[in-house]
Amino acid sequence: MRINGERLISSIRAMGSVGFNPETGGRTRLALTDEDKAGRDLLCRWMRDEGLEVKIDEIGNIFGIREGSDPSELPVMMGSHIDTVRDAGMFDGVYGVLGGLEVIRTLNENEVTPKSSLVVAAFTNEEGARFQPDMMGSLYYARKVELGELLSSRDDSGITVGEELDRIGYGGAYSTPVGCYLELHVEQGPRLHAEGVSIGIVEGVQGLAWWTGEYYGESNHAGSTPMEMRKDTLLAVAELALEAEKLALSLGRGSVATMGRIAPRPDIINIVPGKCSFTLDFRQFDGELFEEGKREVEKLIVSCAARRGLKYCFKKAAEAAPVIFDRGMVELVGSRAAFLGLDSMKMISGASHDAQFLSSFCPTVMIFVPSVGGRSHCPEEWTDVKDLENGCNVLLHSVLELV
Ligand SMILES: [Zn+2]
Repeated sequence: MRINGERLISSIRAMGSVGFNPETGGRTRLALTDEDKAGRDLLCRWMRDEGLEVKIDEIGNIFGIREGSDPSELPVMMGSHIDTVRDAGMFDGVYGVLGGLEVIRTLNENEVTPKSSLVVAAFTNEEGARFQPDMMGSLYYARKVELGELLSSRDDSGITVGEELDRIGYGGAYSTPVGCYLELHVEQGPRLHAEGVSIGIVEGVQGLAWWTGEYYGESNHAGSTPMEMRKDTLLAVAELALEAEKLALSLGRGSVATMGRIAPRPDIINIVPGKCSFTLDFRQFDGELFEEGKREVEKLIVSCAARRGLKYCFKKAAEAAPVIFDRGMVELVGSRAAFLGLDSMKMISGASHDAQFLSSFCPTVMIFVPSVGGRSHCPEEWTDVKDLENGCNVLLHSVLELV
């Protein structure tokens, strides 16, 4: 049995035309906007056309359910998200949802009814581009956060998630259980494309820790303050950035450290910066190395201030432990890729995905396909049709083993 690659790509294109901007070549379906509603309406129509029962839960997650022959079996869920960032490509998230729908279409066409029910899920606000936190739908589905807290989250103009769910008619009351979860996704990184490998078997998602901090020194005249008498906070932050790079390289095994925001104050050409705020992002997959990296980062923040006699403050702004996907599910995907004659490699996801919350309570795995040049979250995001087809066939055959 094989999925229909042309049908899959034509659905992805149709969804990609919702919110499309011909001037940028990207599409924008920020969560719970009119464009997101139009995408949701299209998806629900396609689900009903395939005979799926559509359920919407309290946070607006959409579940399309195909009943199995044995109601005592827990459903196999496939899914991802259809909301986008601003001027996005057409594959991020959409591929996982419409790939799941394509599996259903293939089973319908072949008149196969397995014992387990199958569910195609589209989780609300994965991107977090309009409302925080990101991955809101899967966070709620996994009961990691109270519903009230999510419904009261506001966008920049003060509108809440709850108000927008009511307005677009996607605040529901019905959910569905899950037995295991598979998420098909474009890699959004360069590895598969660079190495010419068709399938990435994702073993987990790396841990992430974010800090925000500030150094306090002395603002002073740039002409009359001798170098040895300065308390220049920007120089300390510059040292911290270089030390963080050294740390990530010395820890190795894929450790990455990034200082993405630096703001010297008063931010004037002829004044020694007396204050400088910064952010630091550290990621690593291995649990022990992640802990070690976090400890070392905090030591560096302190020592770089001390070296120049500065005061400092810092706090952890976000933290997510590394996620390890189910061994059995990982092996299953590998064996199905081999069965289909496709080359594959095991890898860790650098980006966060809905799958990481699902994996906290059911066996979960992700399947990656190459992103050309590793580009994503931009109109240039691209995956070749053959790769889309291959990934979806691996999903189909993995699902067939699970039902
Ligand atoms: Zn995504």
